[in-house]
Amino acid sequence: MAKTMAITIDAEKCTGCGACNEVCPVDAIKVGDKAVVDADTCIDCGTCVDECPVEAITL
Ligand code: SF4
Ligand code: SF4
Repeated sequence: MAKTMAITIDAEKCTGCGACNEVCPVDAIKVGDKAVVDADTCIDCGTCVDECPVEAITL
Protein backbone atom coordinates (compact mmCIF):
# COMPACT_ATOMS: atom_id res chain seq x y z
CA MET A 1 0.00 0.00 0.00
CA ALA A 2 1.15 3.52 -0.76
CA LYS A 3 2.25 5.80 2.03
CA THR A 4 -0.26 8.19 3.53
CA MET A 5 -0.90 11.54 1.92
CA ALA A 6 1.70 14.22 2.27
CA ILE A 7 0.84 17.76 3.23
CA THR A 8 -1.42 19.82 1.02
CA ILE A 9 -0.43 23.30 -0.10
CA ASP A 10 -3.17 25.71 -1.07
CA ALA A 11 -1.79 27.49 -4.12
CA GLU A 12 -4.41 30.23 -3.76
CA LYS A 13 -2.95 31.21 -0.38
CA CYS A 14 0.74 30.47 -0.97
CA THR A 15 2.88 33.57 -1.53
CA GLY A 16 6.02 31.64 -2.44
CA CYS A 17 7.86 33.04 0.59
CA GLY A 18 9.96 29.90 1.02
CA ALA A 19 9.60 29.60 4.81
CA CYS A 20 8.32 26.03 4.54
CA ASN A 21 11.25 25.02 2.37
CA GLU A 22 13.72 26.35 4.93
CA VAL A 23 12.38 24.30 7.81
CA CYS A 24 11.71 21.03 6.02
CA PRO A 25 14.16 18.44 7.39
CA VAL A 26 14.06 16.31 4.26
CA ASP A 27 13.93 19.10 1.64
CA ALA A 28 10.61 17.88 0.29
CA ILE A 29 9.32 21.32 -0.73
CA LYS A 30 10.42 23.17 -3.81
CA VAL A 31 9.45 26.82 -4.05
CA GLY A 32 9.18 28.65 -7.33
CA ASP A 33 6.19 30.93 -7.79
CA LYS A 34 4.37 28.60 -5.42
CA ALA A 35 5.47 25.88 -3.04
CA VAL A 36 5.22 22.32 -4.34
CA VAL A 37 5.68 19.26 -2.14
CA ASP A 38 7.22 15.99 -3.24
CA ALA A 39 4.85 13.51 -1.62
CA ASP A 40 7.34 10.66 -1.87
CA THR A 41 9.95 12.61 0.09
CA CYS A 42 7.68 14.22 2.71
CA ILE A 43 7.67 12.35 6.05
CA ASP A 44 4.54 14.14 7.35
CA CYS A 45 6.42 15.70 10.26
CA GLY A 46 4.20 18.80 10.22
CA THR A 47 7.00 21.30 10.77
CA CYS A 48 6.14 23.35 7.68
CA VAL A 49 2.48 23.58 8.66
CA ASP A 50 3.26 25.77 11.67
CA GLU A 51 5.84 27.76 9.75
CA CYS A 52 3.64 29.02 6.92
CA PRO A 53 2.69 32.67 7.60
CA VAL A 54 -0.51 32.45 5.56
CA GLU A 55 -1.62 29.01 6.73
CA ALA A 56 -1.53 27.59 3.24
CA ILE A 57 -0.31 24.18 4.40
CA THR A 58 -2.48 21.48 5.91
CA LEU A 59 -1.49 17.98 6.96
S1 SF4 B 1 5.46 17.83 6.68
FE1 SF4 B 1 7.66 17.81 7.25
S2 SF4 B 1 8.64 16.51 5.72
FE2 SF4 B 1 6.65 17.09 4.88
S3 SF4 B 1 7.06 18.92 3.66
FE3 SF4 B 1 6.46 19.64 5.72
S4 SF4 B 1 8.40 19.92 6.84
FE4 SF4 B 1 8.82 18.65 5.01
S1 SF4 C 1 5.53 28.95 3.89
FE1 SF4 C 1 3.43 28.99 3.05
S2 SF4 C 1 3.32 30.85 1.80
FE2 SF4 C 1 5.50 30.41 2.16
S3 SF4 C 1 6.13 29.20 0.35
FE3 SF4 C 1 5.52 27.73 1.97
S4 SF4 C 1 3.34 27.28 1.58
FE4 SF4 C 1 3.87 29.15 0.43
